[in-house]
Amino acid sequence: MRAKIVAGNWKMNNNAGETQALAQGLVDAISNTDAQVVIAPTAVNLANAVTLTENSPIEVAAQNMHFADSGAYTGEISADMLQSIGVQTVILGHSERRAYFGEDDALLEKKVNQALAKGMQVIFCFGEELEERQADRHFEVVGSQLKNALYKLDAAAWKQIVLAYEPVWAIGTGETASPEQAQEMHAFIRKSLTEAYDAELANGVSILYGGSVKPANAKEIFSKPDVDGGLIGGASLKVADFKAIVDSI
Ligand code: PEP
Repeated sequence: MRAKIVAGNWKMNNNAGETQALAQGLVDAISNTDAQVVIAPTAVNLANAVTLTENSPIEVAAQNMHFADSGAYTGEISADMLQSIGVQTVILGHSERRAYFGEDDALLEKKVNQALAKGMQVIFCFGEELEERQADRHFEVVGSQLKNALYKLDAAAWKQIVLAYEPVWAIGTGETASPEQAQEMHAFIRKSLTEAYDAELANGVSILYGGSVKPANAKEIFSKPDVDGGLIGGASLKVADFKAIVDSI
């Protein structure tokens, strides 16, 4: 059985007080769930979020980290720094990091390798842009994003990886991939994993969908056989919406 996961990417939202309020609200609201629930506040609020969620089913993830152990990388955050405050999961490859911070497959491969070497869990994001889908290149683009950053990994490393398919045209746009489009791509991803490794490995990897998931569409998207949960942006910033999405799993 694959893990069902609902992860909230808070992006660059919420100061300390707002983080406190939202994390506490979620701890109070979410108790009984079959899903693994993850929240990813901004870096400066991670430690506080870890403390607030200590006795709850909610895990805290970072939104990014550096590939080096330590050193002259002004402004960056290492795996050790995250682990020293109790953060064991990191989101890597988000389309906003790719688009605004120039993160490419080669850099992401290094970041993934570092997180895995440190024993962290990785939520690895990827997905095509609108023009690529319109040109019918979405399978090719997704296939190469996966291959370039991940397919040199040993089979054992995949226990630490969750995939998050996030078509760029659906992120923060209100435009959602239809449940059928999500299922079609997730099935393609599983087939690609089967070809690169084997069916047993492919069937064990959780694949999340991300892109304008909301309470109104979560249930139908999550009902698809190859969709194992969601990575949620905007709708993870309100307790009621995020709880409703968690309850849709
Ligand atoms: C995201 O940022 O990962 C995301 C899916 O955002 P949204 O849900 O707002 O589209």
